[in-house]
Amino acid sequence: MEQWQQMVRDSVHTVDELVGKFGIDRTVAESLNEFFQVRINPYYLSLIRQPGDPIWLQCVPDIRELNDFDADDDPLNEDAMSPVPNITHRYPDRALFLTTSQCGIYCRFCTRKRKVGDQDKISMKGLEAAFKYLEQHTEIRDVILSGGDPLMLTDVMLEKILKRLRTISHIEIIRLGTKMPCVLPQRITPKLVEMLKKYHPIYVNTHFNHPWEITPESTKACEMLANAGCPVGNQMVLMKGVNDDPMVVRDLMQKLLKIRVRPYYIYMADQTKGTHHFRTSIAKGLEIIEKLRGWTSGLAVPHFVIDAPGGGGKIPLIPNYILHYDEDKIILRNYENKVFAYENQPEHGPKNGKPVQLEKRTAKEKTRKTILSTRKIVLPELSEIEMM
Ligand SMILES: *Cc1c(COP(=O)(O)O)cnc(C)c1O
Ligand code: SF4
Repeated sequence: MEQWQQMVRDSVHTVDELVGKFGIDRTVAESLNEFFQVRINPYYLSLIRQPGDPIWLQCVPDIRELNDFDADDDPLNEDAMSPVPNITHRYPDRALFLTTSQCGIYCRFCTRKRKVGDQDKISMKGLEAAFKYLEQHTEIRDVILSGGDPLMLTDVMLEKILKRLRTISHIEIIRLGTKMPCVLPQRITPKLVEMLKKYHPIYVNTHFNHPWEITPESTKACEMLANAGCPVGNQMVLMKGVNDDPMVVRDLMQKLLKIRVRPYYIYMADQTKGTHHFRTSIAKGLEIIEKLRGWTSGLAVPHFVIDAPGGGGKIPLIPNYILHYDEDKIILRNYENKVFAYENQPEHGPKNGKPVQLEKRTAKEKTRKTILSTRKIVLPELSEIEMM
């Protein structure tokens, strides 16, 4: 058995451990464990600094989960978009391929609780039907291995899947959606990355939510993936008490870039059963993006999205930088709330039928012109901008 597999075995997972280690009342612990199974591996456990901290909140069950019973099991309507078991096909050219129900830890905020935990929640018997579906649907050029966590599969099993996918010529890229670099970085072994290299282009999307998750171990794991030629992206979930603070997020994004992970998405927390206590306002997410854009490297600024309830897919939310927009011009504010005008170009040529005379202007004159045109504008108050 490999070290990481032993660590999964050594996870906190029983009611007795919940009572003993975290002081949870026994009857509550029983209900919580039944609601959504507990798994906290020794590595992730070691990142907890004190009760209720951002690491604890993500993995230790909370009595508040039980107060959110009316919420949906499948808010993203994934099951309805599943043409065959193990496949979710929502977008035109890419599909999710669920390969296992197992994960390195069980996150209390997980959207896919209905699929995660018990071995039988995702059946391996469905694999053949999934491969057939991917073969028949030539429009699919991007397959995302997910679950559960595909890196819970052994190298041998994972390689079987990759090898089979690489026999399908229309599949251009393969992505691994895995939390392992963050929650069990020991899983990223030299043997694994050597194997992955054979099936390029392979992209990895991982899932860090807090700067404390960036450790020497997770740094090494992400660097190994990058050195093996896998671009690594990060998907963060916005959560109350974990990362609903622009300074924490900025720190996380900058630290991710240092370990060669590119921030990809920030998600509003999905409206899954048992996760209400994690949800923040949408304004908080927009505020976080405002405090990143312009203030730090563009590379550190991910897309902020809501995965639309009912299966609409990811929809981006952007702070409003447009103050006015018409045929002639657009009036914009920048990250510092300074206002600028940009002349619009008509879509179907000049309005009066004559070609537009391109003025030859020096850079200095241009600047003057921009400032002149912005001077006519009454600068809105920040609160007004937020209302627009
Ligand atoms: C997120 C997601 C994808 C991938 O979306 P990208 O925006 O391409 O990263 C594909 N299918 C489903 C069902 C998803 O939820
Ligand atoms: S690793 Fe992903 S799929 Fe597994 S419990 Fe966490 S959020 Fe859910």
